[in-house]
Amino acid sequence: MTLEVAPVRAFKDNYIWTLRDARHAAVVDPGDAQPVLDYLARERLELVAILATHHHPDHVGGVAELLQRHPVPVYGPRGEPIATLTRAVGGGDRVEIPQLALAFDVLDIPGHTRAHVAYYGANMLFCGDTLFACGCGRVFEGTPEQMYASLAKLAALPDETLVYCGHEYTLANIGFAKAVEPGNVALLERERADAKLREAGRPTLPSTIGREKATNPFLRCLQPAVVESANKYLGARAAGPVQVFAAIREWKNRF
Ligand SMILES: [Zn+2]
Repeated sequence: MTLEVAPVRAFKDNYIWTLRDARHAAVVDPGDAQPVLDYLARERLELVAILATHHHPDHVGGVAELLQRHPVPVYGPRGEPIATLTRAVGGGDRVEIPQLALAFDVLDIPGHTRAHVAYYGANMLFCGDTLFACGCGRVFEGTPEQMYASLAKLAALPDETLVYCGHEYTLANIGFAKAVEPGNVALLERERADAKLREAGRPTLPSTIGREKATNPFLRCLQPAVVESANKYLGARAAGPVQVFAAIREWKNRF
């Protein structure tokens, strides 16, 4: 069996992405242990690694309980309060999971939290709460400058990169994106396709970097239509793409 990425659902709309072959599994952002333990037992898999993108409880809350049953390495951002980390990582580090023949580069993408990281490798990106399908995370601990730079770093990855986000927020995000960019035809096509997936009870993820660049307003802060909407929201001219980003991020908070 080749590598598969299975969405294990947790809470209302979290995905605990589970990378697996026929025998081994690694999980990304296990906010809750029980759904992971159930999945491992049902599929008869041995857990071999835990990866965390940031410190929020809905992403790391299940780590301690998983460790009691499976003493595996826990990777996560250096510089965030995650008591269960055993391998603190940051930008430029590499995470190897030999049992799955996988290796990831660690990318620093601060903004949502102070030291949020992403894992990129094998044409896959695990980006936690920074880049969402057609949206982005709230800027809690960093600045709009940092969040904008982090999103630009992800947007520079190859178009075909599969994007695995931490939450199923896509349809709500598309609703907002349409308000920002009502004339974006790719956005309307995406809404139809993703609505169909949700009706069938399926995730809208993974997305791709190419699809995000075509439809995600937070990656389109240089597009005239996005700039115009930001200016309208501000009642003034945004001074540059970071100000456009900050304006639509604030608008989204109130949407
Ligand atoms: Zn978060």
